[in-house]
Amino acid sequence: MNINGSLTIAVSKGRILTEAMPILEKLDITPVEDPARTRKLVLKTNQAGVKIIIIRATDVPTYVEYGAADMGIAGKDVLMEYTGNGVYEPLDLQIALCKMVLAEPRQRKTINGRLRVATKYVNTTRNYFAGQGKQVEIIKLYGSMELAPVLGLADQIVDLVDTGNTLKVNGLVPVETIAEISSRVIVNKAAMKMKYQIIKPMLKEMNALAGKK
Ligand code: AMP
Repeated sequence: MNINGSLTIAVSKGRILTEAMPILEKLDITPVEDPARTRKLVLKTNQAGVKIIIIRATDVPTYVEYGAADMGIAGKDVLMEYTGNGVYEPLDLQIALCKMVLAEPRQRKTINGRLRVATKYVNTTRNYFAGQGKQVEIIKLYGSMELAPVLGLADQIVDLVDTGNTLKVNGLVPVETIAEISSRVIVNKAAMKMKYQIIKPMLKEMNALAGKK
């Protein structure tokens, strides 16, 4: 499709970028440089007005909310955790599928006092336990949550699980699935109005491609 106008799309590095690129290419949006090889963060595309920016997953909603990007592709895990003033979330692309789970050591230790849960998803975890009427101590980590119970930093963790291998090799087992995760298209609220003529047909095509490899 020919995109007549300017549009900035924010995509997070890693698995989402890898799985989103074929969808954008089917919309005839192709970066002029290979995103996996370049160190550039702003990529021009074959379409003169369209730019792709490659940023950290947790920053995608921020760029979109403030209009620095018109549109973004972000995981539901990041969107659940985001506390900004809001973006539209019109489409589930059904890519980068995984689960957010509560996990604990296979050999459960006796817990004295309040349960300690390590996670980078502090808000989501707090809401989850609040929904169960449980008060827990949440320990914020920025990565390698699986390590926390191994070293006694926490009793349980909340993390994303794909194959389950990472939990397994660290002696952990899932206790409960908190959410099914996939990547969503998000759109800046003003851009949805101002650039509707560009964005609407894109959403329609992406919707037709969602979940197809
Ligand atoms: P796995 O060993 O396949 O279960 O993958 C688990 C590891 O990959 C954990 O460290 C997760 O944080 C990470 N992970 C799994 N799925 C995703 C995803 N869709 N996006 C980002 N990280 C993920």
